[in-house]
Amino acid sequence: MYEIPIVENVLKANDEIAATNRARIHAAGIHAINLIGSPGCGKTTLLERTLERLRDEATVGVIAGDLATARDALRLRRWTEHVVQVNTGRGCHLEAHQVRQAFDRLDLATIDLLIIENVGNLICPVGFDLGHDAKVGMFSVSEGDDKAAKHPHLVMTSDVILLNKTDLLGVVPFERRVFLDDLARLRPDVPLIELSAATGRLEPWLAWLRRLIRRAAPAAPAPV
Ligand code: MG
Ligand code: ZN
Repeated sequence: MYEIPIVENVLKANDEIAATNRARIHAAGIHAINLIGSPGCGKTTLLERTLERLRDEATVGVIAGDLATARDALRLRRWTEHVVQVNTGRGCHLEAHQVRQAFDRLDLATIDLLIIENVGNLICPVGFDLGHDAKVGMFSVSEGDDKAAKHPHLVMTSDVILLNKTDLLGVVPFERRVFLDDLARLRPDVPLIELSAATGRLEPWLAWLRRLIRRAAPAAPAPV
């Protein structure tokens, strides 16, 4: 009886900060993505290839969440100067206040899109609003075909699902039909983008991002 209100308060505080994050992102005329996937599914490799391929047409900023190290930021800095690494210590997900802090080191006015790479984890990142406009749920062939079914909340709340490492289909055990059937059962309407970041096959993902970059940010609500 006592624990439930505490948890609700934590989420309520997070949601309030997330709303102010979202307002700042939209005031800069851009959108933000929350990229969620397990450790090793290829999030950072995907971002490296994404930044490389979009560098002549868009300035992408990245907030990279990890428990420790700046290794992801160092990888991404090759392609953009607009990278902030957030170390969460023991924290297994990003929260809105950490994104707000990262804004101090990011010039939102000069970027065209903000990508937040969440801590590698398919579970609690799903429950924390960061102020993003779109949630991207990422799986990979090497994780096995059962991961969507085992993580229904990510599937049900994502705006798009990515399946990475398709170059490994036929090499590691992964029944594509099983994965597709689980997605169809959980979210018949969710767009699925199959890609291989390591081999550079990511065109539908780039097209999805270009549409988001071109879309006008929502106008700020009129002052009351
Ligand atoms: Mg990473
Ligand atoms: Zn967590």
